[in-house]
Order: sequence, then C-alpha cells, then structure tokens
Amino acid sequence: MANRWQKYYSGFVETAGLTLDAEYPALFGSRNGFDLLVYPPKASAPGAMVCTVSVQRAAGPLSGAESKQFRKGRKDCNGLTQQGRLVTLSLRNGIKPDALNTLLEDFTQFLQQAGFETICQACGAPGATQGCFAGGRYLHLCPSCLAGMQQQQATQPAKPENPVAGAVGALIGSLAGAVCIILLSQLGYVAAISGLVMGVCAIKGYEMLGGRLSGKGAAISVVIMLLMTYVADRLDWAIVIARELGTDVFTGFRSVGALLEMEAIEGSVYWGNLVMLYLFLLLGMVPTVMAGLRASREAGVIRPLQGAGPQL
Ligand SMILES: [Zn+2]
Repeated sequence: MANRWQKYYSGFVETAGLTLDAEYPALFGSRNGFDLLVYPPKASAPGAMVCTVSVQRAAGPLSGAESKQFRKGRKDCNGLTQQGRLVTLSLRNGIKPDALNTLLEDFTQFLQQAGFETICQACGAPGATQGCFAGGRYLHLCPSCLAGMQQQQATQPAKPENPVAGAVGALIGSLAGAVCIILLSQLGYVAAISGLVMGVCAIKGYEMLGGRLSGKGAAISVVIMLLMTYVADRLDWAIVIARELGTDVFTGFRSVGALLEMEAIEGSVYWGNLVMLYLFLLLGMVPTVMAGLRASREAGVIRPLQGAGPQL
C-alpha cells in the first residue's frame, strides 16, 4: 500500500487513535464502546470519508431531529443518518486529523447518551464487533459471523472463468451500446451516455456469461467495445445513406468508404463524430473496467481489518 492517499490516512493514526488497514484505505478503532470504521465510500474520492457504527437502541433508530441537533454548528460533519443497523457520519471532504479526533469523540458520546449499543451488522447480536472487509464491503461483524463467512468462503471453490462465453456476453452487451449510439445519433445527438451504456453492458455481459472478469476478460471486452463502436457508427451512416439514396442499409454500409473518398460525406464530420464516440466510450469504459477488475479481485476477500503489524 503505497500511493497518494497513504500519507493522508496515516495522519489520522496518531491523532485520532485509529489503525490504518495494511491494504485498504480504511481506518478502524474503538471509542467509548463503539466499533468505528472510517473510510472513503468511493475510491475515486479518497478525501470524502464516512465513519460508520452498527448499533441499536430500545427507543428505535436515530430521528431526523437528533441528527439535525448533532450536526448543528459542526462544520466537519456533512451528515448523520441511520439505515438499518448502520449509522453513518459523513465527514467534511479533506477533514484534518485534529478535527476528526474531536468529531469522533463527540459522535461516540452522543451515541452513548442517546442510548445506542453496538450490535453485529449481520446478525444483530449485541456485543463487541470488529471492522471487516467482506466481498468488497466494509462491515461490523461479531466473531461468529466473521468466522462463519470465512468458513463459507474457504469451502466455496473460486468461480471459474469462461472467456468464450464471456466474449459472447460482452458482444451481446455491446449491442445495447451500439443501439444506443445509433438511436441517439438518429435523433441528432452524440452523447456521453452511449459510451457509458456500451461500457457497462459489455462488462456486465462478460461477467454474467463468463463467470468473472479477469485481466484477459477485460482485454477481450475492450476490443469488442472498440469494434462495436466503429460498427455502430458505420451502421448509423448506412441508415442515413439508405434513406437519402433510397437504397437498403446493407448497400449503404458498404458505400460509406466510397462516399468518403468522393467527399460526398465530409471527412471532418465523419472522423470528428467517430473521435467523439471514442472519447465518450473511454469515459464510460475505463471506470467500468477498473471497477469490474477491482470487484473481481475483492469478491473472495473476507477478513478483519488489520494494521501492518511489526515487520518480521
Ligand atoms: Zn453476527
């Protein structure tokens, strides 16, 4: 773990009494009897963190009025909500260690005074929990739920990948992207949404039929997306040509090259349009592929968060 956010998170270790996980950008620790997890929900925004606790109380969940009362005058707190067992405190983007320390103290004291107690996020049993990483999510688990999940994971064989079926899936998914490109274009738009549809549907298609996404799967999907974007653009022109010249789409498709050479289709318009489509494809494709690869890598990981420990 050595990158841009490491230094930022390390800053909280001493000041806020938290431990930084050895691998993930997540801090954990306990204060006033509450098991705290502090992490950025989006990897792309490492400065925007939340603090979560898994709790219950006899009087029911946190009310809107209580949340408002707590937030009042606290500039480092962007929000306080409860969903199910999880209470989430949203922290000001780029919060400083001192400020986090104060806020966590206030937050846990507030929870204590409001009558909340720690419970397991999975089974709801009261008692000590531990911050865990399970299948791409951060959870507060009791020892028996953590052990159960780890056992299940150990006895479950890793999903095999079938690249051929995956490629078929990516192809089917990319058709949705192609349809989107053509429909939007016929309506007179070149829009970023088509790149997003192409990226998401092709990757999801690969995952659904291929089992899981590996580096190889990502490469296959990317090639399919690049080709399908080109084909969709050609087909879009073919539809226009067929309409203008009163011929069929197939003839139109074949005559795009000739019409370009004759400058009946202006080169700058044709290529400009295609470049735009590819830019939009990149916008949709890159984050989807990255997220897919990360999810596939993390799907099998179930473990408690832990500090780096002594170097042996
Ligand atoms: Zn449990």
